[in-house]
Parts: sequence; C-alpha cells; structure tokens
Amino acid sequence: MVSTTLLTLLLGVTGVFALPPIPSPSSSAKDLRLCKTSPTDPGIWITEEEKFTRFISKKINFVDITDTPNLEALAAEKATNLQVSTASIESAFPSGPAHQSQAAPLISALSQANLQTWTNGLANFYTRYYKSSYAPQAATWLYDTVVSVAKANPTITVRKFNHSYSMPSIIAKIPGTTNSVVVVSAHYDSVGSTASGRAPGADDDASGVVVILEALRVLAAAKFKPSGPSLEFHFYSGEEGGLLGSRDVMNDYRTRNVDVLAVVNQDMTGYSPNNVIAIFDDYVSLPLTSFLKTLVPAYTQLKVLTDRCGYACSDHASATAAGFPAAYVCEDSMNDSSPYIHSAQDAVSTVNFAHVLQHAKFTVGFLVEASYF
Ligand SMILES: [Zn+2]
Repeated sequence: MVSTTLLTLLLGVTGVFALPPIPSPSSSAKDLRLCKTSPTDPGIWITEEEKFTRFISKKINFVDITDTPNLEALAAEKATNLQVSTASIESAFPSGPAHQSQAAPLISALSQANLQTWTNGLANFYTRYYKSSYAPQAATWLYDTVVSVAKANPTITVRKFNHSYSMPSIIAKIPGTTNSVVVVSAHYDSVGSTASGRAPGADDDASGVVVILEALRVLAAAKFKPSGPSLEFHFYSGEEGGLLGSRDVMNDYRTRNVDVLAVVNQDMTGYSPNNVIAIFDDYVSLPLTSFLKTLVPAYTQLKVLTDRCGYACSDHASATAAGFPAAYVCEDSMNDSSPYIHSAQDAVSTVNFAHVLQHAKFTVGFLVEASYF
C-alpha cells in the first residue's frame, strides 16, 4: 500500500496524468500479470489462466501492461495532449494515391497460391499460443520463411526481437534513403478457447501474416528501393496475450526515438460476407486512416467499410500508445468478421483467399505510396 500511495503522490505532484493509481499485486505476485480493459482502467493483477476466464472466453479485449509501464504512462500523457499531437500529424499524408503505375507490376506478381500455402503452414501448428511449447517452433518456421523470401534482395535485413517469453517477434527491413520507417504489421501467434486448446488461427491472424509476407516477397524479388523511408514488416508474437509483442517493439522504437511515419496493422483478412475492406477509426491516426481509404478503390476491387473496434482490439493500439500514426485494416465489420476466431474452428477451410489477395494488393499499393513519404 505504501508504494501505491507514494506513486499517487508523485503523479499528483508532477501532474503527468489523472488516471487511477496502478494497483500493487497482492500475495505471491510472481506470475501475476497486470491487465486492463479500458484507457481509464487501472488494471488488475491476474494469472495467465484468468486471461482466458475473464477476457478471452468473453471476447473482452485487454492489454497486458506488466512489462511496459513506460508505454502506459506515455499513452496517458498523450491523451491529455491529444489536440496538439493530432494537429502535428494532420498534414503529413497525401490526399490520395500517386504511384499506381509503379505499383501495378508488383501487384500483378502477387500469388494467391503462396497465401494459401503459407496459411496452411501456420495453421498446421496445433497452436501458436505464445506460452505453448509450439511457440518456438512457429517462430523458427516463420523466421526461416521470411529469410527465404527476403534473400532475393541481399540489402533486406531480418531479425528476431526477443521478449520475456519464448516467441520472438520478427522484423524484416527494406532499407530506404532516410532515417524514417514505415511499418506494416500482423501477429503470428494464435489462441484457442483454453491454453491447451487447438488453435489453427487461420484467419486470426495467419491471414494477415501471409499478406505482409507476400508483399515482402514481391518487393524483394523486384529489388524494390524506397525513395524515402525504410519499409519494415513486423510479425508480432503475443498479441493474444494482451498485445505483448507489439508493445515491446513500439516501446523500444519510442525509447530509441525511431522516426515512425506510419504503422498499418492487419488482423484478419480472409472472411468478408460484405466483400469489403474495413478500416477502423478508433485508437488510430485519422489522417493516416483517411489516406488509406483512398487507396482501397485505387488498388483493390473492393469498397471501404468504416467501423470501430474498441480498446486494445489489435496491435495498432500499441503504436498509437507510443505516439506513432497507426491504422487498422480488417476483413469486414466487427459484427460480420469471422465468427470462428479463438477456437479450433478458425480453420483454413473458412478462409477466402481471393479476399486475402485483395488485402495483399492494398498492402503493396500502400507500401509503394509510403516509400515516397
Ligand atoms: Zn488477431
């Protein structure tokens, strides 16, 4: 109780933010995790098992902030300065697409067969739950696949970003000519209805992983050279454990003052009864989101649908918390997206690969446009 009171006092004096104090863990806190379900929630200390009973089984989004308290303080501070930060980002994005002729041959090179093959590879793991014994195997499979795709262009680097658990995030980088970076992201962990349950995670989110992997493949094969920022492909782990991988990475980028111009996250791309691409407008940069909406009709055969997904719905929230312009692109509205996620039923047979291919076209279009940022 002493430390909590002291923390409250310090925060009050410095005036950093007005959230409730972060609670201290009760007895035997060694394996407890501090998780929260809204911006104003101070969080509760729970076991890994309770993540399933309290949140995952009830479809409640949550963030595990145990390892990244700095990011949490930053998010709170940013919330108090929202008008300033929004204004500074407002003019940073073009009004529409300008590089279609350059993107066209790259988009023509996209392979729907690759999307399917790699989704099968990921879904074949019994689970990709980040705490499971399969997690390191899935990490090795994905790292090797990213390396093999990237080797067409020797200037591309691929690295593992290690976390406190045995499933690194994986980052591939096509070097540009400036110190800035643009990021496309997806998470490669999965989760079932319990920690030991089957979790193919075909739509959630193998379908997003293969989109950025195939985009990397065609850019690597063409030896694509960005005119401006470097292009990074982030394959996050631990998303289903409370955005763990993306929070670590974005906390690191913020700490090192990496100049992140945009983060476009895709989580679920293969199930779309309305045959749309959904772009979400909460916990994101609205200027970036507006720009992305102009790219959908330019680079795909689909219409844009706008929706909101709430607090902590996927990894874009970590970039937003770190103060970077971020956006979230998904297969359909919240209500009409895949009903099979977080279960053994999230199988490859439910994935519409023609729709996944549309997300890949969008992604290549975005990366070519962003390479001039
Ligand atoms: Zn997901």
